[in-house]
Amino acid sequence: MEIGDVMENNKLFYKKHFIWDKLNNEEKVDVFNVADDYKAFIDSSKTERLTINEIIKRAEAKGFVNILDQKDIKPGARLYYVNKGKDAVLAVIGKENIESGMNIVGSHVDSPRIDIKQNPLYEEHGISLLKTHYYGGIRKYQWVTIPLALYGTVVKGNGDVIEIAIGDDENDPVFYITDLLPHLAKDQNDKKLSEAIEGEGLNVIIGSLPSEGKDDEKKFKLNVLKILDEKYGMIEEDFQTAELEIVPAGRSRDVGLDRGMIMAYGHDDRVCAYTSLKAILELENPHKTAIALFVDKEEIGSVGNTGMESQFFNNMVAELIALQNEGNYCERSLKKALANSSMLSSDVSAGVDPTYSQVSELQNAAIMGQGVAMIKYTGSKGKSGANDANAEYIGKLRKLFNDNEVIWQSAELGKVDQGGGGTIAYIMANYNMDVVDLGVPVLSMHALFEMVSKTDVYMTYKAYETFYNKF
Ligand code: MN
Ligand code: MN
Repeated sequence: MEIGDVMENNKLFYKKHFIWDKLNNEEKVDVFNVADDYKAFIDSSKTERLTINEIIKRAEAKGFVNILDQKDIKPGARLYYVNKGKDAVLAVIGKENIESGMNIVGSHVDSPRIDIKQNPLYEEHGISLLKTHYYGGIRKYQWVTIPLALYGTVVKGNGDVIEIAIGDDENDPVFYITDLLPHLAKDQNDKKLSEAIEGEGLNVIIGSLPSEGKDDEKKFKLNVLKILDEKYGMIEEDFQTAELEIVPAGRSRDVGLDRGMIMAYGHDDRVCAYTSLKAILELENPHKTAIALFVDKEEIGSVGNTGMESQFFNNMVAELIALQNEGNYCERSLKKALANSSMLSSDVSAGVDPTYSQVSELQNAAIMGQGVAMIKYTGSKGKSGANDANAEYIGKLRKLFNDNEVIWQSAELGKVDQGGGGTIAYIMANYNMDVVDLGVPVLSMHALFEMVSKTDVYMTYKAYETFYNKF
């Protein structure tokens, strides 16, 4: 066989590559710079509200202005829209009109966590605790005996709003959920992993000293209430009108001697929020209007007025159309704008875990460090509930990425019968736009601290940047 024949045969095979092997020295430095900026972003984004605050802070610094303050818009305009403090839309207006379609990258900013119930506070055996109701798909056993932080928004009786953040400043106390000692865990050890820690057992310790003064029956609970009153002017009834969230305390950290990975709370999906944010903040004068969408409530089914099922995004596009056309708006324009759009549903996927590789079908699984993962279909039990993207759309993206040195891999979440999941993709597909899932592979998804490869974070940013500029 001649050498030429070998070259031809190699072309026939599909081969994946590690990103690190393909980068030049300058890009390798960039990988670590982007990762450092991402760590700063995620450390100040512990909740959906704080993520939106951080996004708007960074957007304003890059010249984005509130759409509600505008009288008209011109190509190149940089706009943002915030919905109830929990969703944001960033837009850079293109040279083409909006009816010809937008290039949209959409991520979610909520992460699995433990919410405080509306009447949560009680004392028992000298300890004060808060009752909780978990949010999203957590593995309950992971949340015990680790330092926890408390964040949230409290609306007081007079309408004043208090923001709470306790546990991430090094001088703060933290909170704690107990577990049984092994010496007395005989009955618990016999239970299934999913049932060993019960939902009603995720009670958070908030205090342990009794109140001074007369011997009140509930003086431990009273002491907590006195501290809340002193610090926040808060009374027990204020819990009824609060959204308080328990998340792991602690910041993101580099992992490994080579510092190639990052562990952090909430990579799902703030890593895709960050990479799409970075891409749109750097974008100038695109051909098509570019949209970065940051939504809430994905982890509980995209429901409610801040979930993707809400009309807030359509409402914002309606505003864009009116601003573009001297106040004139018609529904036909809105429908055209949505149907002509192309979207990357930017959500994380499961990377192959060397310790649990048996749950992946390795020929169709995302390998850590081998690029941004494209998922044609999600769903479970025979693609049920999936947005199954069209080959023609994937074909265009393949050419775009291959022509621009974006290293990508196709992936499925795991083995066919092992389970499944979903994203916001199918909701956007309802408008008849082209949508496919494209995001960062993650290890230990939905754990308190998840893991990503810095090279995948960098390459995902590059994918979104290329999509906005060249699609
Ligand atoms: Mn997600
Ligand atoms: Mn998730």
